[in-house]
Amino acid sequence: SKRKGKYTYTFYSDDLVDVVRYRLFIEQGLRKALTEESITAFWQPIVDAQSGDVVAVEALCRWIDKDVGMVSPDAFIPVAEETGLIQSIGLHMLREACMLIKLLEERGLGGIRVAVNVSGIQLKDSEILDALNEMLQDCQVNPADLELEVTESTLQSENAAMLLWQINKLGINIAIDDFGTGYSSLSRLAEMSVNTLKIDRTFVDNLSQDARHQIIIEAIINLARSLGLAITAEGIETAEQLQYLREKGVDSLQGYYFARPMPLAELLKYLPDKQQS
Ligand code: C2E
Ligand code: CA
Ligand code: CA
Ligand code: CA
Repeated sequence: SKRKGKYTYTFYSDDLVDVVRYRLFIEQGLRKALTEESITAFWQPIVDAQSGDVVAVEALCRWIDKDVGMVSPDAFIPVAEETGLIQSIGLHMLREACMLIKLLEERGLGGIRVAVNVSGIQLKDSEILDALNEMLQDCQVNPADLELEVTESTLQSENAAMLLWQINKLGINIAIDDFGTGYSSLSRLAEMSVNTLKIDRTFVDNLSQDARHQIIIEAIINLARSLGLAITAEGIETAEQLQYLREKGVDSLQGYYFARPMPLAELLKYLPDKQQS
C-alpha cells in the first residue's frame, strides 16, 4: 500500500524533512493505535540459570498496525517519549502486566514476576505512583510479583529516584535495565532502592570473541553481589553463553535461546510445560 511505501521510505531516510514527516506519521499512527487498542504486550520468559524454571516474564510493547504490520518499539518508543504519548502507553502496559499477574495467580503460577519497562519520562511526575496504587487496589495482586525496569540514566534524576523509592516501598521490585551501558554513579546505586541489575545484551554478544566483555560481565556480577542485588543477563542466544553465565553465578537468564517475546496465548501454552519439567 501507499502507506507502507511511505513508512519504509521515511524510515531509512536521513533527510530532515523526511525525519519530521516520519515522526508525524508515527505520532498520528500511535494516537490512533491507542484508541483502537492495537498497542499490546508481547511476553518474554526469564529463567532461573540453574533450574531453567521461568521466574519472570518481561512485557515488551508491540504496535500491530493492520496496514504496516508489527512496528518495533525501537521505531516508536522514542517518538512516544518526545510527544508524551509514552504516559498512556506506559499505563496501558502496567495494566496488562497486572492482568497477567492475576491470570498467573489463578493458574497456580503465582510468584512468577512480571516486568514492565518504564521510561524516565514516566517518572517526571507522580502520576505513575497514583496509578500503581490504584492498580494494586483494583487487581488485588501481590506487589512483589511486579517489577519495573528503568535505565541507569533515569537514576540521575532526584525526582525519579524519590519516586522509585516510594514505588519500592509499595513492595514493587525495581530492576536497572541495560546495566553497563549508561553512567551509573556507584555510590548512588548503593543507596538506591534497587533489587536487580540486568546486564545489557551487548556484553553477552561476542562473549567468546571479546575478552573485554567477559571482564565487564565479571565486574558487574561482583558489584551486584557486594550490593546484594540479583543479576539477570539478557540476550542469551547460544548454549556457550548460557554455560558461561551460569558458571559465573548469574541468577537468571533471558534470550532467544530460551524463548522469543510472544503473544499472551502462546505464553500461557509455554508456561505450564516449562514449570513441570
Ligand atoms: P529492552 O528493554 O532492553 O528489551 C530487550 C530487547 O531485546 C527486546 O527488544 C527483546 O525482544 C530483545 N531480545 C530479547 N532476547 C534477545 C536475544 O536473545 N537476542 C536479541 N538480538 N534480542 C533479544 P524489543 O522488544 O524490540 O524492545 C526494544 C526496546 O524497546 C526495549 O529494550 C525497551 O528499551 C523498549 N521497550 C519495549 N517495550 C517498552 C515499553 O513498554 N515501554 C518502554 N518505555 N520501552 C519499551
Ligand atoms: Ca527491559
Ligand atoms: Ca535490556
Ligand atoms: Ca535495550
